[in-house]
Amino acid sequence: MSILENIARVKTEIAEAAKVAGKDPEEIQLIAVSKTVEPARILEAQEAGLTTFGENRVQEALGKQEVLEDLNWHLIGQLQTNKVRQVVGKFQLIHSLDRLRLAKELDRRSKEQGITTEVLVQVNVGEEESKGGVAPEDALAFIEELRSFKQLKVMGLMTIPPFFEDPQAARPYFAKLRELFQKVAAQGWPEVEMKWLSMGMSADFQVAIEEGANMVRVGTGIFGSRPR
Ligand SMILES: *Cc1c(COP(=O)(O)O)cnc(C)c1O
Repeated sequence: MSILENIARVKTEIAEAAKVAGKDPEEIQLIAVSKTVEPARILEAQEAGLTTFGENRVQEALGKQEVLEDLNWHLIGQLQTNKVRQVVGKFQLIHSLDRLRLAKELDRRSKEQGITTEVLVQVNVGEEESKGGVAPEDALAFIEELRSFKQLKVMGLMTIPPFFEDPQAARPYFAKLRELFQKVAAQGWPEVEMKWLSMGMSADFQVAIEEGANMVRVGTGIFGSRPR
């Protein structure tokens, strides 16, 4: 299947799931995950109408930004504090804020540049050792602390649930993040905007949308399988 055909199929599936969730498909933001994908193929996706690309390695992403124009870039992978300086100002959204030290550094470097950095708080809904993210029970207090960082704007939540063969098995984890999202929104904190609920990847984005996701991160479903 070509990238063009893949995108058409993914969009159809997004629309189906949006309908189940009672949403307009236009409300669902599709992030094309382009890690390991070379610029020529990203260009194909751009020509097919996609505008926003997700990367999880800083160096790789910055290299692509130099050769590709007019795209929005999201950082979706774990971010090391020592890479923050390179990242600030280069990504429209960072999906993986999960610790105070990282918040401090993002805030400090954003201030240096005189900009606001938009972030999502990553939550480890499955409480897995191997994954980044704050524990669900700590998320509310963490976000409350983030309110004091004037150069950061919390725009929502992100998660990567545990892996299951059957995507339906991830449903309770997606529901859990949506509940947390609503709980944060209900605080009415003026510094925090609960706009994006980033959850769902190639195998399970339909389930995620049904449970409230309005931002999905799809890699293999668009570009095919990645080299190991
Ligand atoms: C790689 C990656 C994705 C995309 O995964 P696919 O299964 O290829 O769709 C989504 N989110 C994150 C954080 C990733 O690292």
